[in-house]
Amino acid sequence: MLDTDIAIIGGGTMGLATATALANRTTRRVRVFDAARPPHTEASHHGHSRLVRVAYGEGRAYVPLAQEALCGWQRLNQAADAPVFIPTGILNIGAHDSPFLAEVETSARSFDLRTESLNHADITQRWPGWSLNTSFRGCFEPQGGVVLTERLFQYWRSVIANSANITAIDNTPITSISRRHERFVLRSLAGDQWQAGQILVAAGRANRALLRPLGIELPIQRVRKVFGWFDHTPEYDAARWPGFNYCGPAGDYYGFPAIDGHGVKIGRHDGGQHIEDETTPGDFGSHPSDLTDLRRLIDRHMPGVGELQRGAVCEYLRTPDEHFIIDEPIDGLFIAAGFSGHGFKFAPAIGDRLRDWMCSHAPPASFQPFNLGRF
Ligand SMILES: Cc1cc2nc3c(=O)[nH]c(=O)nc-3n(C[C@H](O)[C@H](O)[C@H](O)COP(=O)(O)OP(=O)(O)OC[C@H]3O[C@@H](n4cnc5c(N)ncnc54)[C@H](O)[C@@H]3O)c2cc1C
Repeated sequence: MLDTDIAIIGGGTMGLATATALANRTTRRVRVFDAARPPHTEASHHGHSRLVRVAYGEGRAYVPLAQEALCGWQRLNQAADAPVFIPTGILNIGAHDSPFLAEVETSARSFDLRTESLNHADITQRWPGWSLNTSFRGCFEPQGGVVLTERLFQYWRSVIANSANITAIDNTPITSISRRHERFVLRSLAGDQWQAGQILVAAGRANRALLRPLGIELPIQRVRKVFGWFDHTPEYDAARWPGFNYCGPAGDYYGFPAIDGHGVKIGRHDGGQHIEDETTPGDFGSHPSDLTDLRRLIDRHMPGVGELQRGAVCEYLRTPDEHFIIDEPIDGLFIAAGFSGHGFKFAPAIGDRLRDWMCSHAPPASFQPFNLGRF
């Protein structure tokens, strides 16, 4: 049986964020196992881009973590050969009484964040790509932006390749975890076995099945989500147009300016289809509402956005309260799961704090709200 000090199961967003935080910061040997070779389209991290924002509509308690993560993205920009974070700014749009927008503004006030409150006319004059009537208002956060995911993964993987103590083991699905004499034993689909003193389970949709035999039940629902890239007029280019969140009568949406010739990207945050275990979500277009859902926002509010270039499908792994699960339910076994469609932006901060927790054995107080025992 092969031996390692730390095994990370899942070399996706949280697995690589933690592995790169550990790189060259400990002499312990770390192995990162992934079922495929990230980045890839069978997980929750693909699709070119993710929004990063700090004035947080999902709850002001996230702001300190988001601030730490934003510093992390800015640091990564200096370390990587090409920028992974583009500070486009983020525009939050909603109806006057939108609870999301109210929480964005409360977050900004509570933490003295730089934001601008705007009425519908301010928005449409500044960004003519929007068509909004008087029932809308907005809050612009200039420090927010967009992370380019594939470029980020390339950078993270280069950090691992150059580190003395971390090894990425791709195309190796882990099928079981068991305990033997205070250590954890992992078995792969090919039948290989490793033992490790500590493990981080960050395997996305496989987390539930891996943890159930250890008596750990994760209340996580897989939800199919679609997004697409569209033709557009020049006012939607990244130099002129920010990323956005929209909560209004059309639904809850998010979107990205056109970057590197990719087209304007739009996705729907609410809705989607539940996916049962052992099934695949189905390609874009396999569900009748895939395109009409995206077009609803465009047809109401984005006059310069045209035809679909291509669509894609991704999964949210959603907890009942849509907050994360980050915990150590058994000594030495850490879980990073249930990021509910909004975890990516926090990755550098989560990776750093998990590293510190694994090395110091002291749980960060800031992760207390994410404990599994709340369910
Ligand atoms: C369409 C969409 C848009 C999103 N937009 C945003 C956004 O704008 N901003 C934001 O902050 N968040 C966003 N999110 C959420 C964010 O992308 C996720 O929360 C985050 O990527 C989850 O990270 P993860 O490490 O849990 O999962 P992943 O990044 O999916 O990593 C899990 C890894 O585990 C591997 N794996 C699976 N099974 C096994 C196994 N048996 N053995 C070994 N490895 C295994 C997989 O191959 C995968 O690489 C979005 C999500 C989606 C789907």
